[in-house]
Amino acid sequence: MRLRYGSPFWLDQTKGRAIRRYPQLRRELDVDVAIVGAGFTGCTAALIFAEAGLRVALLERLQVGRGSAAASTALLMQEPDRFFTELVDRYGMATARTIWRLSRRGLRDLKSLLRRVQCPARVTPAVHLAFDPRGARDLRRDLAARHRAGFGGRLLDGAALHRRAGIEGGTAILSAGNAVVDPHRATLALAHAAARQGARIFERSETTRVTQTGDGVRVSTPHGRVRAHRVIIATGFATPAFKPLSARFSMATTYVIATSRAPALRRQLVGGNLMFWDAERPYHYFRWTDDDRILFGGSDRSVPRGRRARRAALLGATDDLRRKLSQIYPATEELTTEYAWEGLFATTPDGLPYVGAHRHYPRHLFALGYGGNGMTFAVLAARILLRQYLGRPRDEDAIFSFSRQSR
Ligand SMILES: Cc1cc2nc3c(=O)[nH]c(=O)nc-3n(C[C@H](O)[C@H](O)[C@H](O)COP(=O)(O)OP(=O)(O)OC[C@H]3O[C@@H](n4cnc5c(N)ncnc54)[C@H](O)[C@@H]3O)c2cc1C
Repeated sequence: MRLRYGSPFWLDQTKGRAIRRYPQLRRELDVDVAIVGAGFTGCTAALIFAEAGLRVALLERLQVGRGSAAASTALLMQEPDRFFTELVDRYGMATARTIWRLSRRGLRDLKSLLRRVQCPARVTPAVHLAFDPRGARDLRRDLAARHRAGFGGRLLDGAALHRRAGIEGGTAILSAGNAVVDPHRATLALAHAAARQGARIFERSETTRVTQTGDGVRVSTPHGRVRAHRVIIATGFATPAFKPLSARFSMATTYVIATSRAPALRRQLVGGNLMFWDAERPYHYFRWTDDDRILFGGSDRSVPRGRRARRAALLGATDDLRRKLSQIYPATEELTTEYAWEGLFATTPDGLPYVGAHRHYPRHLFALGYGGNGMTFAVLAARILLRQYLGRPRDEDAIFSFSRQSR
């Protein structure tokens, strides 16, 4: 098979299968909540709001699940994007512990949601790796702080890492409870379940304008309009319509390769049932697929401008990722690269998303800026937004608000 540049592996998995498509919005509609963006976040929110008995319209510019979910490596993580100690330094021990507790709860919630929509995640132990003395020291320090806070995780020294994962020359934290899934299939399944619960879903229906009305909002698309009490913005990051918020995010492009199938190698490598990420900044992340390929991601860089620069960046990143994979697992040199693609994501200064209201945008709720582990946060966000919509927020929801402040 020739290397497929630019096309995520996941989109090929649904090729030839009947995918449910949704109509374009071509009328006026009254609902309780309009959701802009049918990525993993928008589809999860649509399902959770519809299950709560609310009338939902979900509006997607392109097609359901073609955003970052199709590009994702879908490591479903209980650990936020930043070290525990970094969150302690920023927010203090009590808040850092709450963030971790919520993130773990979010993952449990996500796994059960995926089971309910018949796209179960595969539970996969996780290995957080470091290859240099500084990274190893950071991991040891982080694990000690996690233990003091009551969280688990086991240190693997060089010998233990080799025994458990077949990797030489590193130190790692091993943790239980994380999972992996096919992110494109999962997003389609969430949308389908939301539709079954009564959510109205529209593709090719870009939101061009949101206007406040007396008691709600009017959300306009080129051929129709939705009147709602509230609008949820789930577009991944601040689109030009919310330019004043864009300074809150830094945009990066991240890259992923998928190797050829390697069932024999997977059986031979003791780490074939694990997922990994490393302690470099930015980090690399990798996992196995159900059909025995390695998905290896990272090599993040600033967003290239123009087609030529974009292609050059993809080629460069593909080489970087292959080299890095071979350093970790020399036996993978015999594998070919069959897919290489890129995806855009928004990171925030503390690695946490912004979820909730913003004082300059009445009747709007936001769920934006997940960085590299947004799938767990998507469920957490949907629960927070539902509580806020119903006027029953919890104190802990403020941790993800636009007005949060570090110490
Ligand atoms: C390469 C890559 C690897 C990743 N790996 C992981 C991982 O291992 N684990 C993990 O948890 N997360 C990972 N992520 C992040 C994760 O994929 C996302 O956080 C998650 O899918 C949630 O995305 P979202 O729904 O918020 O945004 P998106 O999936 O980007 O969805 C936003 C949607 O909004 C639509 N939209 C935008 N503007 C409008 C408009 N005006 N009107 C209507 N619709 C609009 C877009 O078309 C899009 O469909 C990765 C991301 C990338 C790019």
